[in-house]
Amino acid sequence: MYPDCRESVPWLGHDTPSPPVSPYGPIDDPTLTLLSNPIIHDPGNGPRVRNMGAFLDSSFAQPAWTADPLCAEFAQREILQMLRTVLPEETALCLWYNKSRRIGRVCPACLRLYTLLDNPPGAPPRLLSEQIISGICSPICFMLAAHRSPTAAKMAWGCMAEDLDDATWELLDELESPRSVPGKVIVGVWLGMLVKMTRLHDLGLAQLCVPDLVPDEVP
Ligand SMILES: [Zn+2]
Repeated sequence: MYPDCRESVPWLGHDTPSPPVSPYGPIDDPTLTLLSNPIIHDPGNGPRVRNMGAFLDSSFAQPAWTADPLCAEFAQREILQMLRTVLPEETALCLWYNKSRRIGRVCPACLRLYTLLDNPPGAPPRLLSEQIISGICSPICFMLAAHRSPTAAKMAWGCMAEDLDDATWELLDELESPRSVPGKVIVGVWLGMLVKMTRLHDLGLAQLCVPDLVPDEVP
């Protein structure tokens, strides 16, 4: 893929001075660029993704689970484009990845890279359920994402909309309400919105496409 530069590398010949560049290659060498800007880093408590866009283009990313109809549907680029219209870039990329991969996940709250098989034996079923639903990796990250409504967070962890009563669903609305405050960035608001979206099987995208959808009313 990359050009083979060996023939033009002077230090391979005899009696030639070392080149005034990094010993790993030319300064613009893609490998060197990758080494100095790693896609993944480990702060000591597990691998984290540093750059979601670069991660998705890399071999670290798992392929879409095309054998599963729903994952194959989510894997379409059009879905990603729709998610980008309602969520910030990084959050949209995380959600798109998590909904279209079989076991690969990137936590949208802490960017931890993990798989659904990483949980220790005896982990609570709702933990695995939440990882499947949204990719949020832990109770701590879920509380961070849904911190604006702790009661709803407790009820909604690992549950889909059909498992929630109306009162809890209304509380989930509180997670996304501040986005209407102009000119103010409120920490966690997008993650709260992601929590609510992921309680729906289609992430609410059908309603996003056709906001005034009226079910089967033929005049
Ligand atoms: Zn996390």
